[in-house]
Amino acid sequence: MEKYLDSDIQFLPGVGPKRAALLKRELEIATIGDLIRFYPFRYIDRSTIQTISSIVSESAYVQIQAEVKTSNFTGKRLSVIVSDGTGDLELVFFKGVKYNAERLQPGKTFVFFGKPTLFNGRYNMVHPEIDNADPDKPGVAGASMVMTGVYTSTEKLKTSGITGRVMNKLMANAIRLALPEVEETLPDYIIKEKGLAGLQYALKNIHFPADAYALKKAEYRLKFEELFFLQLSLLKQKFIRSRNEIGIRMPMVGDAFNKCYEALPYELTGAQKRVIKEIRSDMMSGRQMNRLLQGDVGSGKTMVAVLSALIAVGNGYQACIMAPTEVLAQQHFANISKYLAPTGVKVALLTGSTKTSSRKEIHAGLQDGSIGIIVGTHALIEDTVVFKNLGLAIVDEQHRFGVDQRAKLWGKTVGGVPPHVLVMTATPIPRTLAMTLYGDLDVSVIDEMPPGRKPVQTMQITEGKRAALWRFMKDQIALGRQVFVVYPLIFESEKVDYQNLENGYETIMNAFPFPPYKAAIVHGRQTNEEKNFNMSAFAAGRAHILVSTTVIEVGVDVPNASVMVIESAERFGLSQLHQLRGRVGRGSDKSYCILVKGQKVSKESQKRLDLLCETEDGFVLAEEDMKMRGPGDLEGTQQSGLPVSLNIASLAKDGQLLTDARNYAMHILEKDPALETVANMPLLQELRKGKYNINDYSKIS
Ligand code: ADP
Ligand code: MG
Repeated sequence: MEKYLDSDIQFLPGVGPKRAALLKRELEIATIGDLIRFYPFRYIDRSTIQTISSIVSESAYVQIQAEVKTSNFTGKRLSVIVSDGTGDLELVFFKGVKYNAERLQPGKTFVFFGKPTLFNGRYNMVHPEIDNADPDKPGVAGASMVMTGVYTSTEKLKTSGITGRVMNKLMANAIRLALPEVEETLPDYIIKEKGLAGLQYALKNIHFPADAYALKKAEYRLKFEELFFLQLSLLKQKFIRSRNEIGIRMPMVGDAFNKCYEALPYELTGAQKRVIKEIRSDMMSGRQMNRLLQGDVGSGKTMVAVLSALIAVGNGYQACIMAPTEVLAQQHFANISKYLAPTGVKVALLTGSTKTSSRKEIHAGLQDGSIGIIVGTHALIEDTVVFKNLGLAIVDEQHRFGVDQRAKLWGKTVGGVPPHVLVMTATPIPRTLAMTLYGDLDVSVIDEMPPGRKPVQTMQITEGKRAALWRFMKDQIALGRQVFVVYPLIFESEKVDYQNLENGYETIMNAFPFPPYKAAIVHGRQTNEEKNFNMSAFAAGRAHILVSTTVIEVGVDVPNASVMVIESAERFGLSQLHQLRGRVGRGSDKSYCILVKGQKVSKESQKRLDLLCETEDGFVLAEEDMKMRGPGDLEGTQQSGLPVSLNIASLAKDGQLLTDARNYAMHILEKDPALETVANMPLLQELRKGKYNINDYSKIS
């Protein structure tokens, strides 16, 4: 055991029990080793000093060295004018006013670092970081270091005296004492092949860069390490599974498939054909399929599901298709029954509201094998449901299903051989995120829309255009179309949101009085029965307008609906808006998505709305969304979270490096799948440490 690396952080000189408790609570730093692996998120570059006259934009941080001219209080605001000979700059303080007034004496020179803001046509800097200028080296601040790390901090840490400067000192102590103990995690041959810096060098330079080049090398090494081990862990699980886990061999396509295929009302798209081939070859292989099928709303996943299910049936097995809601299950059942008519395969629907008598019948049919395909909700995974020989489980809209529920499906096996699993999602996940979230799955993508889909015209309006909006809705209804009106529902403000929804419904009922207009409302506080009743009324064309929360977000298909009105659109996430828009444009009519904006729209929200108006490509939107929000926030991953937390690499920004790391991990595993060779011993050791253990996702089925 190492002397320093594993020891409690309180024993590091400068810490002690009080600060240790804080570091643990606020930053999850428990040992000196943890501290060393806590990296700066940015650096103060003391090697370059800009002139005040060179400040031309608000976008970049700048560092200037300047002399204090005057210092003035106005109210609670401290204004300090500094000059560097090329110009004056105002520094503004709202906090620590007294301290800064005392420190920033006229005539003294300091180095200021911060982000300029344009105010009344002039630049100023609010709360800059301040360093004493080094009198020996004009133009260069501080002591010996060129770049200083800046670490994530919290209010509590700062008020307890763990300032940026203290953090730098603690880090210096940690590096001095513990760095010699740090062992290389990557084998020599990888370091050579990839031209990486050694771990000790990288850790020293990530905290205390010798220069910009050393920092680059350190960053690259640590990012590569992180992404490489992550991918190695995921892929290793996949390799082991594909070697060891036997799946049901389904060598034939079968009659049912062919009959259905020949009777199709349309030609499959190239993407649908390709994906079906991928699925078929998995099911033929004798190994268990674990495949994620991604396809934007309306890309035709249902047909792929049906044909896949028919492969199972053609080989003498059963298939189940599981949907997240009752309404969706019903809709699937109706569609699938149509497709199956020419095949003679028996299909049934099982949901929470299936009557006891028919439920018994269905249970019997599943047990004796007379039902070939079963469509349903969570009811399908109840223990009382026993299959004769389940060969394929299809899960629609994966993100609404918990890991436990998937595990239950897995349990419904034939003599211990697990069914093939196909998970379908309409939430486009950026490639880099998919590689991480589903790194152990195979991924198929339908990246082509069926022909003839008309683009949805998307526009933004403000409250002032309300009357025009209603006229427009009335015109559309007069043409025989239907309209969705969606209100946001955010957990924290649930009460207010429901109030808005109810008010909105009332306003609509007033503006669209019965007769002739009929408006239905659907939301999460209704019972399942109420929800189904109202939703079905709209789906069947008995209501013109459906007012709802986002419960309609997933999957519901009402081809006659041509208008999607989204209230307070600025409050929705980008993918969510895209999903909602996907509810219209499914029929042959021209469709519209109208984003109604509130009074205050942040820059960020405005960008989301602009993007949505610009493109209908779900993958483009997902990538943009991730760049704007960071992957942790991405819809569809919120419930699950990322499988591991990344210390330094970013899924949004380091996509290329992630791909490289993944390919390299693959290359190593192809030669040594269990990492048994002596050369790869360090890899196995590192994986055993647990940071890269991602159990939840190894058995998505
Ligand atoms: P999603 O991927 O959102 O589940 P669906 O499977 O519901 O999409 O398909 C959307 C619509 O497109 C359906 O009405 C379906 O009948 C139709 N469709 C699917 N594939 C094709 C195709 N190859 N050509 C024409 N229409 C298609
Ligand atoms: Mg669907």
